[in-house]
Amino acid sequence: MEKKEIPYKIYLEERELPRAWYNLRADMKKKPAPLLNPATGKPITEEELEPIFCRELARQELNDTDRFIPIPDEIVDFYKMYRPSPLVRAYCLEKKLGTPAKIYYKFEGNNTSGSHKLNSAIAQAYYAKEQGLVGVTTETGAGQWGTALSMACSYFGLDCKVFMVKCSYEQKPHRREVMRTYGADVTPSPSLLTEVGRKINAEFPGTTGSLGCAISEAVEAATTREGYRYVLGSVLSQVMLHQSIIGLETKAALDKYGVKADIVIGCAGGGSNLGGLIAPFMGEKISGKADYQIIAVEPASCPTLTRGKYLYDFCDTGRVCPLAKMYTLGSGFMPAPNHAGGLRYHGMSSTLSELYDEGLMEARAVKQTDVFAAAEYFARIEGILPAPESAHAIKVAMDEAIKCRETGEAKTIVFCLTGTGYFDMVSYGKYHDGVMSDYVPTDDEIAASLSKTPKLP
Ligand SMILES: *Cc1c(COP(=O)(O)O)cnc(C)c1O
Repeated sequence: MEKKEIPYKIYLEERELPRAWYNLRADMKKKPAPLLNPATGKPITEEELEPIFCRELARQELNDTDRFIPIPDEIVDFYKMYRPSPLVRAYCLEKKLGTPAKIYYKFEGNNTSGSHKLNSAIAQAYYAKEQGLVGVTTETGAGQWGTALSMACSYFGLDCKVFMVKCSYEQKPHRREVMRTYGADVTPSPSLLTEVGRKINAEFPGTTGSLGCAISEAVEAATTREGYRYVLGSVLSQVMLHQSIIGLETKAALDKYGVKADIVIGCAGGGSNLGGLIAPFMGEKISGKADYQIIAVEPASCPTLTRGKYLYDFCDTGRVCPLAKMYTLGSGFMPAPNHAGGLRYHGMSSTLSELYDEGLMEARAVKQTDVFAAAEYFARIEGILPAPESAHAIKVAMDEAIKCRETGEAKTIVFCLTGTGYFDMVSYGKYHDGVMSDYVPTDDEIAASLSKTPKLP
């Protein structure tokens, strides 16, 4: 067979855009542990989720049997505006590193929200609209999710209330204005608008907030309003399901040119881009069809997989959400104000937690200044200014490519470049001025936070 020449950027054609999401849980031999109702300690039901989540999303959340879930046409039409996204061969980076490795990145920063978050935002807004709701509430850390959801809500004519982690709100005023351009209502969290926000402010005066506490506020804002539901941009199984579009496209693009990945890498905040990217690769790994080395990369300041514990915990600081069994640092964990806001969450997707616990994937924690060094190196060579979150994956992809230089192995490395960093210039500035810290929590701090996880029978 004649070998097709592999283009610099692999674009799938529009007709190759996946028409169904892949639900990896259906293929897992050991399923992720069920969500529990905090009041009863029993597995939560669809009916119990419905006051918080949209009906169809509650159904998807609990579905661990259907392998493929069709993507509604309205969502496919929206996807067509910015998908399929390119899979880019990082030739210039390879050359500069002098590595025999082949490096590919899936670029998800190709839309106004600047990240992969739009893939799930549009799906969640669609199901809210379909149910006849007035609007949705949510939290945002770095601001990418809030932006993505604002875009999706304005597309479907829904109201959107965003609680933004206070340190990001102050660091990124332009993010807030993008959200308001799309008609969203943006409040810094913890705020004085909700009961839980007032409580957290009283307990931790001057706190710069956390995702866990913004989630509690958003849930309260949804459940105390008629016609509103809460939506979340990461961690949940439904989000990982929607993000499987990343992995399906990546796999299809590689398969089209007969390229086999050896190492698949993603940054991990709540686990949605990583879970989405690896889904089809992990499916093959579980069935024994092919083997892949899969690596989650997290910040050393919020080391959920590498230093957390695998147990049932609350998903939010205010303890109003269902309990999830996951790797966690404790729902009260307040990470140092690091500059990858999207990776500051205390827990991890229950699916990825289970896969990690079974040894099917690895995790690495990296220091902030090393991440920004990798970000800058990449920006100067590959022409994309990466989001600090994405740069975690770049850092480890570069580490692996350098290892190949030493061993002479020509491995194929694939990572997800989740987004662009134009709204992170204050952070880049701190790095350039040499005033960025590398705070790493002590064992005592983590143990203290973990001691407050719920005691279950
Ligand atoms: C939110 C975000 C992440 C982390 O979220 P996951 O759910 O772990 O994927 C990574 N990169 C960017 C650009 C983000 O906006």
